[in-house]
Amino acid sequence: MSKVQPVEDKITEPQMVPARKEAIVNPFVPYSHETMLNDSVKLSQSHPDIITVDSIGRSVEGRDLLLIKLGKGNRKIFLNGSHHAREYISTSLLMKMIDEYSKAYSNNENFEGYDVINLLNEFTIYFVPMVNPDGVNLVLNGINSVKNPQKLRNIQMVNKNSRGWKSNINGVDLNRNYPAVWEKINNGFLRPSSERFKGYSRGSEPETQAIMNLCRNNDFELAMAYHAKGEVIYWADSGTCNIIPKASEIADRLSKITGYKKLPVSQNPSIYGGGFENWFRIEFKRPAFCIELSPYNGDLPHPDSQFDKLVWNKAKSTGLFFLHEAKTLK
Ligand SMILES: [Zn+2]
Repeated sequence: MSKVQPVEDKITEPQMVPARKEAIVNPFVPYSHETMLNDSVKLSQSHPDIITVDSIGRSVEGRDLLLIKLGKGNRKIFLNGSHHAREYISTSLLMKMIDEYSKAYSNNENFEGYDVINLLNEFTIYFVPMVNPDGVNLVLNGINSVKNPQKLRNIQMVNKNSRGWKSNINGVDLNRNYPAVWEKINNGFLRPSSERFKGYSRGSEPETQAIMNLCRNNDFELAMAYHAKGEVIYWADSGTCNIIPKASEIADRLSKITGYKKLPVSQNPSIYGGGFENWFRIEFKRPAFCIELSPYNGDLPHPDSQFDKLVWNKAKSTGLFFLHEAKTLK
């Protein structure tokens, strides 16, 4: 992980803090990069024994790519959200998980039946809740809020409404940019676009590079990318499904606890190429999943006020679920 600039000095002296009852993260409002940074500081101050905050690099427009580590253990898993800008409800979910899991830990409580203290003493969860902060800013604040609106005018808008934007601010779809059978992607998007353009070269974007560096510098036992919409689980592709045997069982159990549908193995590299989870499987031969949270209802963000119904009620325990599964992998 090169050039890591801490967002906030790590608090190295564990402090006794009284058990906290009130929530820090409010997922019922548009969840911006600034809100996330502010909440991350409050969370780390409230739970200095188990939460640290870092940055793994910067976006095209210079925003910190926030890393939050939750737990005390040497074993690690990796969860990320908002590769796609309009799917920022995945960031709200991950931040709410950190809030609730840390509260359960401090209060010595189970969460949905999971033994939080044992799991977080054995593991640390690495969260990058917002892989694409420039895109999320565009979705939330509009075209005039970007640093170079002129450049944006040359990018092809698939959805005329900027709230339907998916790519980073260079017009590269970050989930098509990873070096995972990238050459085979053939989706007709040949220039910068609000979605689906794979970039002019593999791994070209700073956000993609930061995630790859993080994964290469940490021994993650499994990884998980949260997207929205569809209520489905991607768990395998034809290039790697035979070398990661336990992924299928894990996806079965994940489907059972969430109600999300386990999809067939992704067969076509020209469609699944360039994705984060596909890259992680090729690179590390370990399980990596993608959940599409929330019901499909078109290409604009869901109303934030419906966070519980659309996302939280089904997905709230998935972070702990993956820890529990990682325990069984070894
Ligand atoms: Zn997505």
